[in-house]
Amino acid sequence: TRPTAELQALDAAHHMHPFTHGAELGQKGARIITSADGCWLTDSEGNRILDGMAGLWCVNIGYGRQELVDSATRQMSELPFYNTFFQTSHLPAIQLAERLAQLAPGDLDHVFFASSGSEANDTNIRLVRTYWEMKGEPQRRAIISRWNAYHGSSVGSGSLGGMKGMHAQGGLPIPDIHHIDQPNWWSEGGEMSEHDFGIARARQLEEKILELGPENVAAFIAEPVQGAGGVIVPPESYWPEVSRIVKEYGILLIADEVICGFGRTGNWFGSQTVGIEPDIMTVAKGLSSGYLPIGGSIVSSDVASVIGGGEFNHGYTYSGHPVAAAVALENLRLLDEEGIVTRVREETGPYLKEKFESLAEHPMVGEAKIVGMMGSIALTPDKARRAAFKADAGTVGYLCRERCFANNLVMRHVGDRMIISPPLVISKEEIDALIARAWKSLDEAMVEAKE
Ligand code: PLP
Repeated sequence: TRPTAELQALDAAHHMHPFTHGAELGQKGARIITSADGCWLTDSEGNRILDGMAGLWCVNIGYGRQELVDSATRQMSELPFYNTFFQTSHLPAIQLAERLAQLAPGDLDHVFFASSGSEANDTNIRLVRTYWEMKGEPQRRAIISRWNAYHGSSVGSGSLGGMKGMHAQGGLPIPDIHHIDQPNWWSEGGEMSEHDFGIARARQLEEKILELGPENVAAFIAEPVQGAGGVIVPPESYWPEVSRIVKEYGILLIADEVICGFGRTGNWFGSQTVGIEPDIMTVAKGLSSGYLPIGGSIVSSDVASVIGGGEFNHGYTYSGHPVAAAVALENLRLLDEEGIVTRVREETGPYLKEKFESLAEHPMVGEAKIVGMMGSIALTPDKARRAAFKADAGTVGYLCRERCFANNLVMRHVGDRMIISPPLVISKEEIDALIARAWKSLDEAMVEAKE
């Protein structure tokens, strides 16, 4: 194989990376990952790196599962591709739809497949508007989302996103998308109790609905626990109040389960963890543990029957791709039969919670919050005041991320929050290693942060 420096130079010369500053890449070079096993990555220099992010929140089952390779190989030989347009179907798509209907809560029993979370959320925009058109209320076009949300990068899903700056690039959003604030008590709660703050943030939804006119609102979309926005664990009062509001005004609730789904929060879906009954769930990532690209919208029988009353002019060549569907099905079988979701809820999740929350004792950590296996810490120069660093948000977070990386731990930063989302198969020993490396990296970053 070619030397690392040569690969880095070629990478910088020809490869445009998502969400990466070109100049930075040219100066430092990308870290090149060559193989992976369980929770561990190996890079081109032979370093073993503990993956505290499960790739991009997706390798729930861990790396290197031969069963998934075998299911892909079998399906590739048998039927590598066929479409599900018009009136054709195939076994992997049928079986995966059946399995998702079994796993999904409430009456969510139909699946529209896509290849990614972005595509699935684009589907959702058209689904909810088409739903209301078919019900004779075509003026219901408004979709309410939240600031600081990430729902994908395509034009539609990027419009749902609420990361200021990032999502405006390239002329987004499309019309009729509106945003309300996120329930981030630690940073934005001020003097309010966490309970009152949760209610107040939920009521922003009601205020927005009333401002737009309830008859014009199609849907509200949110993650049960906001992930890429920095793992913002909502106050307990938040979701019950949101549920009341969406029911009262009869608007559709879309739960984006792209990160929260498939065991991440200790249940099959984050909706179950926070106690909501969505009309549509977006799924991707953990559906196949990232081994192949697949996503989808799981919709209620009501939505399916209204849409099914006409023709939904929407679809992707790879909707229900047989190889990706076969791999997803095998992934779900393993997650279930090996009790991985249950273990997150009852055993390794509580263990990780105890260890992770102990990071709040670090002098630079304000809060440490975790649900199942998605958690974040807020970095602060002054815990008592819940203060932010004076430097641009993200400067200290970036430092921490770099220190983690140097200590062979992948942790991401979002502004000055550090986040984890390890493979769900992480062992207690690996959790100990993760926490020890995080602590060491925080110590190192703190020295530099103060300079
Ligand atoms: N929704 C959420 C909550 C996500 O976190 C992501 C990706 O991180 C997406 C949607 C977009 O998924 P994809 O990158 O597969 O298009």
